[in-house]
Amino acid sequence: MSEYDTIRQQVLDYSQRLAHEGFFKGTGGNVSIRLPNQDILAITPSNQDYFAITPNDICVYRFDQSKVEADLKPSIEMGFHIAVYQARPDVGCVMHTHQDFASAIALIGKPIPALFDEQVRFLGRSVEIIPYAPSGTGFLVKQVRKAVKNHHNAYILKNHGVLCLGPDPERTFHNVLLLEKAALSYLLALYTEEKISKIPLVIREIAFGKLRSEQKKIEERLVTLSEGDV
Ligand SMILES: [Zn+2]
Repeated sequence: MSEYDTIRQQVLDYSQRLAHEGFFKGTGGNVSIRLPNQDILAITPSNQDYFAITPNDICVYRFDQSKVEADLKPSIEMGFHIAVYQARPDVGCVMHTHQDFASAIALIGKPIPALFDEQVRFLGRSVEIIPYAPSGTGFLVKQVRKAVKNHHNAYILKNHGVLCLGPDPERTFHNVLLLEKAALSYLLALYTEEKISKIPLVIREIAFGKLRSEQKKIEERLVTLSEGDV
């Protein structure tokens, strides 16, 4: 038994759900969950079949990349998972996938504008493209750290895949699904070569305002908790 059993099980469960959806190709893609109020994350191991591993194979690391508990090597993208948690106190879970339709957008490099109310409410004003940098490098970590400061919850990694964030695993999983739906609709609409209509600006701002106020509440709660520690 370990104090990390529950969080490890959650990381594995959501990895398998993403694999079931076909959002992980082979061993590609990774999931992490932050431990509440600690600079520690549980993350999928590198290069493993998500249906062949057990919760004990999920790696637990500190944000300084030192090991807490792990038998296998962590995902090579652990650096950008940590960068997200450090830049965004509201984020409790990070999912990186190679899902089909959003990955097609990653090739054309066109941000997804505000197409649907629900998209903006949960993902942000738009889905921006994070400039290309090779997997597992410090260059990619730097690009991710910079991009997530706009408080959105979904991004497309150019010529690579996607990055979805959320306050908890269930919401992050929902964001992954929502992004794929928006990506498919956008691709189909682009294919028609007709003018693509967006939601009115005022509605976009109201929907994004709801997301922001939710994020601010989480940040405030964290501040209160850390003040309580002193
Ligand atoms: Zn990847």
